[in-house]
Amino acid sequence: MSTDSPPIPAPRLGEPYLLTPGPLSTAWSVKQAMLRDWGSWDDDFRAMTADLRRGLLALIGGNADFDCVPIQGSGTFAVEAMLGSFIPRDGKVLVLANGAYGQRMVQTLAYLGRDHLVIDKGDYLPPRGPEVAAALAADPAITDVVVVHCETSSGILNPIAEIARAVEAAGRRLLIDSMSAFGALPLDPGEITYEAFVSSANKCIEGVPGFGFVIARKTALVRAEGNSHSLSLDIHAQWATMNKTGQWRFTPPTHVVAAFLEALRLHAAEGGVVGRGARYARNRDQLVAGMRALGFETLLGQRWLSPIIVTFFCPEDPAFSFSEFYRRMKDKGFIIYPGKLTVVDSFRLGCIGQLDTEVMRAVVSAAKDCLSEMGVQSARPPAAALAEREKLTQ
Ligand SMILES: *Cc1c(COP(=O)(O)O)cnc(C)c1O
Repeated sequence: MSTDSPPIPAPRLGEPYLLTPGPLSTAWSVKQAMLRDWGSWDDDFRAMTADLRRGLLALIGGNADFDCVPIQGSGTFAVEAMLGSFIPRDGKVLVLANGAYGQRMVQTLAYLGRDHLVIDKGDYLPPRGPEVAAALAADPAITDVVVVHCETSSGILNPIAEIARAVEAAGRRLLIDSMSAFGALPLDPGEITYEAFVSSANKCIEGVPGFGFVIARKTALVRAEGNSHSLSLDIHAQWATMNKTGQWRFTPPTHVVAAFLEALRLHAAEGGVVGRGARYARNRDQLVAGMRALGFETLLGQRWLSPIIVTFFCPEDPAFSFSEFYRRMKDKGFIIYPGKLTVVDSFRLGCIGQLDTEVMRAVVSAAKDCLSEMGVQSARPPAAALAEREKLTQ
């Protein structure tokens, strides 16, 4: 996997490429794996569930201190399940927020009635180890710290190892939303100490949407008994039932599980986390270089750019309109993603899914054509956007 991307076939049936961070473009064989029905109670499906759990644990090195618990629903359901199951009812949480997904965890904790404190870094600054250490030293009541691995709202890759060291040194527990990073970026518990993390079927493993999963220390799973506020989102109960019967507690997304096993097979064939992460990084490099050559600028400095998704400023040129750009890109076969920033107009392009550098070259060339069709002279962002970015990099 050291040379260029593996060949990615064009999507069939005229479907556009999804430059979005999940749902994303999946392989044909992943879609094909859904073309039969399974009885959820049957041995064949129980074996599939066991394979899925084993396959995911293998991605953190098969560490025997951890177990994997899949849970029905989108990623947010799994985040809520993790927070509600592992944070003690009388615990206190430090949330490290720098975007929409960190804010969503704050909102979830409010729903759950868990006491919490927030370090809010705004839209696109990373939380750093020393400020986490200081916050933990200042408040001995904090039991748990939660953080987003890659904040998909800006694309920033948070310094997870540095944060984990600060949390461990202060003797607290770390819970990670690794939704958009796991499978492409390493999360080996031998290197990064955490209690649990969560991800979902339709991000870097490249399955279709329908379930999330928690990977947690077995000691945490044992401790979680009776803690959850929710029947359907109780990770301990799902774990205990799965270990006892091999079954999910309520109707499992059978076709999604079948598709996911094929996605895991392709992930392994690509060289696992290292191979997948390398392809995404090549996608990003191709994309960013091409867009910069057109005059676009990235929100983030090189250091914080993730290989998952990249935020670009909208051009200042009055001939540019995002909705028009979106429609024209879609006509050319690419679904792009609006921005999620509060201060400046932006849009996002994902690097994950069944995309390679050839596709990224085509994306850039389509963007170039869209600009000229719209009569946009320059893709340069407004001076205010660049000034904002300047402040960040100080
Ligand atoms: C995708 C994502 C989620 C979950 O979103 P859903 O829409 O519920 O699947 C949570 N956190 C991050 C960082 C994500 O990228």
